[in-house]
Amino acid sequence: MSDNFGLSGDAKAKLLARLANRAPTQAEAHAHAKPPLGRPEVAADLAMVKRAGEALGIRNPYFRPHEGIAGATTVIDGKSYDNFVSYNYIGLNGDPRVSQAAKDAIDLYGTSVSASRIVSGERPIHRDFERALAEVYQTEDAIVLVSGHATNVTVIGHLVGRDDLILHDSLSHNSIVQGALASGAQRIAFPHNDMDELERLLGTARANANRALIVVEGHYSMDGDIPDLARLVAIAKAHGAYLMVDEAHSLGVLGARGHGIFEHSGVNPADVDIWMGTLSKTLSGCGGYIAGSAELIDYLKSSAPGFVYSVGLSPPVAAAGLESLRIMHDEPDRVARLQANGRHFLEAARRHGLDTGPSIGAAIVPVMTGSSIVAARAADRLFDMGINVQPIIYPAVPEQAARLRFFLSSLHDTAQLDRVAKAVADVLAEVRSERIDLGALASRLAAE
Ligand code: PMP
Repeated sequence: MSDNFGLSGDAKAKLLARLANRAPTQAEAHAHAKPPLGRPEVAADLAMVKRAGEALGIRNPYFRPHEGIAGATTVIDGKSYDNFVSYNYIGLNGDPRVSQAAKDAIDLYGTSVSASRIVSGERPIHRDFERALAEVYQTEDAIVLVSGHATNVTVIGHLVGRDDLILHDSLSHNSIVQGALASGAQRIAFPHNDMDELERLLGTARANANRALIVVEGHYSMDGDIPDLARLVAIAKAHGAYLMVDEAHSLGVLGARGHGIFEHSGVNPADVDIWMGTLSKTLSGCGGYIAGSAELIDYLKSSAPGFVYSVGLSPPVAAAGLESLRIMHDEPDRVARLQANGRHFLEAARRHGLDTGPSIGAAIVPVMTGSSIVAARAADRLFDMGINVQPIIYPAVPEQAARLRFFLSSLHDTAQLDRVAKAVADVLAEVRSERIDLGALASRLAAE
């Protein structure tokens, strides 16, 4: 790809030298010798998607700046939209009580603890928050870290190693995959939610491994479906494997009190060895947590690189999380409203003949389009109509799995959901009826 006004680095160096009427210096001559950073195949895919978007006249749907609190509606570029792209599941981000708790913590501790908790970054609010999280999972203890993604990477990467085996769901979040790669363990992705296959793979590979770790999510963020937790517990027990569940999209979403997949499934939380979650969704912050035995948490606090060598959670973030948990417990109707909205939107979409995949209608409802172009065009047109929804397109998902993905919140109302479901059905019918000249598009992309 060229940059610098359409010139490659090499051409630019030579042009500058020519304009200066001299031979290129050694540094200039070698300026082009460095291959571009990053993975060429990824860059090529991204460039192809960008060019295809431009060729089809579709605006870039990414990095849109929201000008206020993103809830059931949001403001982008001065215009209000029905919003389906935020994980503000039970409406606590922007709740005045949560914001006030964060402000109070700033007044008390400042905006940063400026150091790893082990050395001088510990504040009482860290432990208060961790104890409250441990109570949710009825575990002995919990630990909070500054990033949800980094939590999975550092914890998975630190708990198992070369002689071990990790089996994770094939639709696992990138952070789980990165953690598994960092660990050096043998890594097997089992087909999504396929418990028979998991059991078969475990049966084959378990004997050669010292420890085995099964990692799943409690609520999958692409499809809005859930695993069979009781079966997972039984499989893990039968094969002497540890079980880890990422509850990023389950806390505040599943179960009557929002306690997640164990509450939804009626499973004893003690049967899961490692509970993981993020602070960025229901807990209105930014960071990750692990809940488990005192021994596990103590080990992580003393040695997990992403905890020991990283700053403690920012005080306002800890306070916002703690207050969010308090409100989640005190106002379970928020969870009930979210669940009712999820069901309502799922049913409305289905009534309009939309394909919602395997979603259970909790907080995530995909509308499958089967084509990246259809998904991108539909999202673009819905945006014009004041509806903000993300298209999920290749290479994020395989081409045939392209979709529009709706995140629901307790803040949405049913009239809004009915209106949006109809608009989506109308727009998809319109987009599908339009001929897309794939031949012309392909030759245009090939020519560039
Ligand atoms: N796990 C899952 C299942 C996720 O969906 C995400 C992000 N959405 C993460 C971990 C990472 O969390 P964060 O964005 O809070 O870093």
